Amino acid sequence: MIARRAPKRRRTLKGQPVLALTVRPPWSHWIRAGVKLVENRSWAPAHRWRGRLVIHAGKRVDQDAFWYGAIRGHHVDDDDLNIGEYIAVCDLVDVHEPGEACTEACSIWGVPGAAFHWVLSDVKPIVTVEGRGRQRLYIPPPDVIDLALAA
Ligand SMILES: [Zn+2]
Repeated sequence: MIARRAPKRRRTLKGQPVLALTVRPPWSHWIRAGVKLVENRSWAPAHRWRGRLVIHAGKRVDQDAFWYGAIRGHHVDDDDLNIGEYIAVCDLVDVHEPGEACTEACSIWGVPGAAFHWVLSDVKPIVTVEGRGRQRLYIPPPDVIDLALAA
């Protein structure tokens, strides 16, 4: 007789109040600093998810990005970057395709050719917590969720 395996429980992201997104430095730095309120993504959150979004600074630095911020008045040095850490929390308030829904923030940080602009608000730095980044949206560790909810 073959024992019936219990179906694997997938942790669903639907209804989660806090999720995390890994962003490559230095883009992550400008989000934490509260100056970059639009994130460009090729995809939109499943289930039209909105909520508290924890920003995780990835390990791979986007070297081409430094000039982008610098010419917009947001110079940052390599040494000042958080790498491989949860660094901020914000609200994901809107996700739209570039076009009529764009705001002033999009004109600075939104890539016209991006599939989606993720609009962030109420950004707050948090006590940084080391952690591994992941693809797409994910559930951060419990201590990071606590920090996000308390911020
Ligand atoms: Zn936009």
